[in-house]
Amino acid sequence: MTSELSTADQAALTSGSDFWHTTPVETADLPALTVTDGPHGVRLQATDGDILAGARATCFPPAVASASTWDPELLRRMGEALGDECRAMDVAVLLGPGVNLKRSPLGGRNFEYFSEDPILTGILATAWVRGLQSRGVGASLKHFAVNNQETDRMRVSADVDERTLRELYLRAFQRVVTQAQPWTVMCAYNKINGVYASEHHWLLTEVLRDEWGFEGLVVSDWGAVVDRVAAVRAGLDLAMPGPDATGDRALVDAVEAGTLDAGTLRRSADLVREMIAKAGKRERGSYDAAAHHDLAREIAGRAIVLLKNDGGLLPLRAEGQTIAVLGEFARTPRYQGGGSSQITPTRLDDALTQITASTGASVSFAAGYGDSGKGLLEEAVELARSSDVALVFVGSVHETEGADRDSLDLPADQLALIERVAAVNPNTVVLLSNGAVLLTSPWEARVPAIVEGWLLGQAGGSAIADVLFGRVNPSGRLAETIPVRLADHPSYLDFPGEHGHVRYGEGLHVGYRGFDAREQAVSYPFGFGLSYTTFTYGEAVADGLEIRVPVTNTGDRDGREVVQVYVSLPGSRVRRAPRELKAFANVAIPAGETVEVVLNVERADLAYWDTRLNRWLVEDGSYVFEVGASSRDLRATVTSHVTGDAARVPLTADSSVGEWFADPRGGALLGELFAEAAAGAGDATTAALTADPAVLMMLGSLPLGRMAMFPGSPFTTDALADLIKAANE
Ligand code: BGC
Repeated sequence: MTSELSTADQAALTSGSDFWHTTPVETADLPALTVTDGPHGVRLQATDGDILAGARATCFPPAVASASTWDPELLRRMGEALGDECRAMDVAVLLGPGVNLKRSPLGGRNFEYFSEDPILTGILATAWVRGLQSRGVGASLKHFAVNNQETDRMRVSADVDERTLRELYLRAFQRVVTQAQPWTVMCAYNKINGVYASEHHWLLTEVLRDEWGFEGLVVSDWGAVVDRVAAVRAGLDLAMPGPDATGDRALVDAVEAGTLDAGTLRRSADLVREMIAKAGKRERGSYDAAAHHDLAREIAGRAIVLLKNDGGLLPLRAEGQTIAVLGEFARTPRYQGGGSSQITPTRLDDALTQITASTGASVSFAAGYGDSGKGLLEEAVELARSSDVALVFVGSVHETEGADRDSLDLPADQLALIERVAAVNPNTVVLLSNGAVLLTSPWEARVPAIVEGWLLGQAGGSAIADVLFGRVNPSGRLAETIPVRLADHPSYLDFPGEHGHVRYGEGLHVGYRGFDAREQAVSYPFGFGLSYTTFTYGEAVADGLEIRVPVTNTGDRDGREVVQVYVSLPGSRVRRAPRELKAFANVAIPAGETVEVVLNVERADLAYWDTRLNRWLVEDGSYVFEVGASSRDLRATVTSHVTGDAARVPLTADSSVGEWFADPRGGALLGELFAEAAAGAGDATTAALTADPAVLMMLGSLPLGRMAMFPGSPFTTDALADLIKAANE
């Protein structure tokens, strides 16, 4: 495609012309494209001076909230709306979604990521990308890969074993790439096992392109490229931002010197040209800001997780209950995190105004905490004492890209507010605003109701009022576990690392997998969330990988249940978490009715990564499918036999006696050889080695090759070579 382009033009195409544009090549009629953040709004730089200040756009709920909807359909609609805003602002590629796993609750950017589970993340992000790209606007799947902390993010090496990498940290990327083909994938800043993501040939080329069939281009995170030539060689196509005349020159020199294959640079430039061509097809448009605000409100309402509601305190009655609204966040909402994803909203709803508008009863307000000192607290306590209900708005003070958190605790002045208010008003509701989990254990026993309100985007204030007054029946579910203590968290011992390395010591046991494996108590488990109604589950049946379960809404309000399927394989040959989410369905069930919920588990999701064969492997066996309302509220269980993949590990001299006997062919051949040797030699040592099952068991872990060296061994090195050949034929 770019054969007519000079090497210099090719090189120029593979770096940006400024912060947010690709380099135009006028002689080849290639315009500059605009790319911008992302992911929960369009942050188009509005003024020359400030790269973070954007033109007004809808601030949808950040991923921490949208993921709590557990509803791919909502994510698709959000993607479409974002696509329409991009078209209105002439943006070609929106820099999102962020699909890194929440390895630690301290992660400073957790608010931009979906979950601690790769299947939930992958399903939601796939829907978002499809929605966005259906509008002719490209996505940028980020940050590829293993970018799970902000501490030292531009240099740290995430040291992680391959099985964990494949099954956890790459799995959501794999799903989105194979099912939605994002236009671009953004490489991460960090190193993976010692190699910068931007120079990781295995990651960017062997896995992403060769194995997964990625057809789009790889763009760097902003400033992630250290060496342009090494990056292009590894499979990085577009270095951002720019301009980077030195790097462009280095590429030309490398091609001329023969140290960089000319075809490699040409392919990268071609991919940039293809993106320009695709973007050229999208039509400019406009969008309905009011409709997008309503969509942001709908998603936010569905994202709120009702954690506790003793005595049915919520929903509030619209009349007759005086309400004290306490806490600055009710008036000044915390609705998004800091950094590159920060949106200048088209409107901003605050909870105080929306609550006041929702009730005919008296509503009073006190800020409760903040800079102006102790008087605020006393004022709040007095209002709480004289009101029927106290709504306490608290949350994290600051969450931003570039810095991890150092604690999961609420600030002391907010804790004091909860305690003092709860002491004078038994009808206290705590409403949380936070981008990643906060501990509830220090205070949750003192209050009857807790509403997890995350960072809900620009319509969060209305959404909170919708839930408080029952206009929306809460159906959000936790996409991350709330631990009792930070020290309980599987990542605790190895976060955020030191001296340039972070060891992923918990391996596969990320999030709920780790809590379950150690049978640890949690405050609120993964998948948890209450409703104003109740649901009961009938018996589950399985037909292959299709699970059906009747679910009944036993209350008197319409509601939504998020039915979750967790899978395990008792007796698996490999270590696995006790249960892993493999499917879910988000179903509306009218009051009093029963819906038969159908869930399909994808066979590929049952596979583990086999490090001996270097491939995915579905084991043969009776899989257990636990169906429930959270990872710790399993209501129905069914098993289904799955025929495994035909795969055989070749037998070698290094395979143990046990492995030989576990293999039908190898075992039979070895058995014969042992029997013959024992009979022929008539020698007691050989007979003892081969005939006594107890001895054979002891020898189980002995590599066969070593046995050949033993005195009295039943076979020679030559016989071993023949045996290996015969066993693998
Ligand atoms: C962030 C990316 C973002 C880029 C452009 C980087 O600092 O890590 O997520 O897309 O900046 O703003």
